[in-house]
Amino acid sequence: MDSKTRDTLITLFKDKLNEAMRFYLETCTRCGLCVEACHVYASMGNVKYIAAYRHEIVRRIYKKYFKGRGKLWPSVGEAKELTDMALEELYEAAYSCTGCRRCMLYCPFGIDTQMLMSIAKLLLIGASAEPEILTMLADTSIEKGKSIKLFKKGFLAGVSNLEADVVKKWKIKAGKTAIPVDVKGADLLYVALAGAHSIVPAAAIFNAAGENWTLSFFEAVNFGAFVGDPTKTKLILDRIINEAKRLKVKEVCICECGTAYRVMKQVSGGQPFKVSSITEVHARYIREGRITLNKSTFKHGVTYHDPCQIARNGGIFDEPRFILTHLTDDFREMSPDPRYNWCCGGGGGLVALGEDTLDFRMKSSKVKVDQVKETGATILATACENCHTQLSNLNDHYTMSMEVRFLSSMVADALVH
Ligand code: SF4
Ligand code: SF4
Repeated sequence: MDSKTRDTLITLFKDKLNEAMRFYLETCTRCGLCVEACHVYASMGNVKYIAAYRHEIVRRIYKKYFKGRGKLWPSVGEAKELTDMALEELYEAAYSCTGCRRCMLYCPFGIDTQMLMSIAKLLLIGASAEPEILTMLADTSIEKGKSIKLFKKGFLAGVSNLEADVVKKWKIKAGKTAIPVDVKGADLLYVALAGAHSIVPAAAIFNAAGENWTLSFFEAVNFGAFVGDPTKTKLILDRIINEAKRLKVKEVCICECGTAYRVMKQVSGGQPFKVSSITEVHARYIREGRITLNKSTFKHGVTYHDPCQIARNGGIFDEPRFILTHLTDDFREMSPDPRYNWCCGGGGGLVALGEDTLDFRMKSSKVKVDQVKETGATILATACENCHTQLSNLNDHYTMSMEVRFLSSMVADALVH
């Protein structure tokens, strides 16, 4: 690594050093309580996947450049120089961590591995050593925000095709727009993912609830967050914030995408709209009597995987369970407690990296498979695209013979209309 790159990385590191980050970097007592917390270590048994081990890779660089002892006498402080080899270690630590924060629950000091790995990811970006595909996808999203006119026509044509599905399957009244787009003064802006699975069931439920809603031109997924680039994360987010303000909506509803929900929720303070996950909105419709579900639609055992970014990191535990009590008489909770739920192993950009990470994702999520199998359920529901893909991959790989479902699609299928 040349000295110019190293200086750039040191500056990037320094900019991340707020009070919380310094606390995380200086507090670990190596008590070992986080050892069994990580699904990767629990599944694969390699020490490099212990949370504290991952921290140490970042911490040693911190000691080298930001602590007096490391600067003067590196071997005593276990300080480590920023080299190409150090970058490889940072990559291994950051892209084998899903940012699920299960380890944080076990740490007596609440050391946040996701935050420490955000330093690792930022240094990788600074050295152009991040997964290139994630940066390319983030750039594409940003470009789309700049030139919406170019794709508007194609988007509307695609939506029009989906409308036919909604009208046919859910018998929407003639003359009513089944999927409204770009409606000023709508109460709710729905931010979906690309694809019918994210739009069609949601549209059916909004219509059944009589919601005054509109679909967003922009997709929810934030590849800037996956790659750990704060500037790109914000630019991608701003597209949605500006759209919500332009349309003057009261609520922004994020589809089944955990990371999109977490990043949007983080910046929701001070905005003229509230931010909800689609799971919260569906639970509200049931509570208010705006939709009714047929409880006998799913007769055989149903279990639910809590997406880490929505449950542990977003605080939404009760709503999916409330919905499930209206979908089935046979809901089977996983063990242990949902707060300690095992990560599915697909977050942190791993699913977005596709086949490249498939082998690792399958091996590192064995504990998740065991946890699901113990329920004896036949349907595995979840409320996040990443989790759904990863759980479907696990279902195939481990021949679990389950049906992996989006919770929203189950709600749509159970609508009484
Ligand atoms: S955040 Fe999750 S994946 Fe990362 S070290 Fe902690 S438990 Fe493991
Ligand atoms: S539980 Fe916390 S303090 Fe203990 S080893 Fe892990 S990170 Fe360090």
